[in-house]
Amino acid sequence: MESVRSHLNEYVTTVGKSPIRALFELSFDPTLISFAGGNPASELFDVEGLTKSFTHIMETAGQRALQYASTDGEPEMRQAAALRTTQMGVPTTAAQVLITSGSQQGLGLLSQTLVNPGDVVLVENPSYVSALQAFGLQGAEFKPIDTDEGGVVPEALDAAIRQWKPKAVYMIPTFQNPTGVTMPESRRRAIADIIAAQDTWLIEDDPYSELRYTDEQQIPISADPRLDDRAFLLNTLSKVLSPGLRVGWIRGPEEILERISVAKQANALQTSTVDQLVAAHYLESNDLQAKLDPVRAEYARRRDAMLTGLREVLPPGSALTEPEGGMFVWARLPEGFDASALVYDAIKAGTMFVPGAPFYVADPDPRTLRFSFVSNTPEVTHEGLARLAPVFAGA
Ligand code: PMP
Repeated sequence: MESVRSHLNEYVTTVGKSPIRALFELSFDPTLISFAGGNPASELFDVEGLTKSFTHIMETAGQRALQYASTDGEPEMRQAAALRTTQMGVPTTAAQVLITSGSQQGLGLLSQTLVNPGDVVLVENPSYVSALQAFGLQGAEFKPIDTDEGGVVPEALDAAIRQWKPKAVYMIPTFQNPTGVTMPESRRRAIADIIAAQDTWLIEDDPYSELRYTDEQQIPISADPRLDDRAFLLNTLSKVLSPGLRVGWIRGPEEILERISVAKQANALQTSTVDQLVAAHYLESNDLQAKLDPVRAEYARRRDAMLTGLREVLPPGSALTEPEGGMFVWARLPEGFDASALVYDAIKAGTMFVPGAPFYVADPDPRTLRFSFVSNTPEVTHEGLARLAPVFAGA
């Protein structure tokens, strides 16, 4: 085995598999109540609306939809992506957008385009596991940025940039994965000031901001025009329409998008033509904001059920985040607990969460764990947490 490994790319052998995807495979047991994955609720997908768009595209543009297409994305989808990004508060033209097969591909392409082995990438600690994989496969070295209940601490970011001279800073300012934390507006301005004054790339990952359960719209840091030549904003339809469609995009400096396009050609040639045309047609012929209203209302109900339930079953002295959007609640158990040691007991009890340790790039906190609240109805969440109670009580 060792000899085979020595014949592989160095980083493929050192970067671990996603522990969440491993749990995901177990969660196909239909009797299990899983709080582990980041899956939107399937029963809330607009199957009818998407069926209409699939039918329309196949009837009116079937030959084109089934053919190879451009690497950067079909014009309709680039236009739709630019419009959505503009509506999110970041004025964007179609030329500033490269379509990707979900934002995960965007992360992989940005890593390939920006990162050389040994380059430092600054990340929130904890951060999104599969972003760490993408950067890790390019040989990035991670350094943590200090965070608190408002996300990245600007002074800590400034100090870390001066100390480590990072190639890039990766962050998820809104409804962060895994913590659910959101950065307030004043901090976003402070972070934009810091990035504008430094020589580094900002990679801002924003898959969740439209899943907000208050009226407050979060404007991405990348909206600051001073960052137009150094910020990449990643977006996706996965959480608001369907992750099975695999349509996302990178908004960034045009001359760098050209380089990213080369990486994309080598990686996958293009994003699915059918998926792009269907998504673009759907966005043109539906008011996605209006369609999301009932989804947001239901997710807010599910979040409340999760928070109320967790307060009842977690051991006394536990702490919880109270996310205003997104999918995740982050918990910290009292002194002496190890969440990883409890996962298999939880599975035996018919339920599942993700331990927090794998999300860290430094000083993993074994007492942390992540719960996804969107996939289950309040009733099912209640039942799942009831199964979990004895696991914590017996630990
Ligand atoms: N970034 C973050 C922070 C995520 O949580 C996810 C999905 N779990 C992604 C990117 C990738 O999403 P997709 O590739 O489906 O767009």
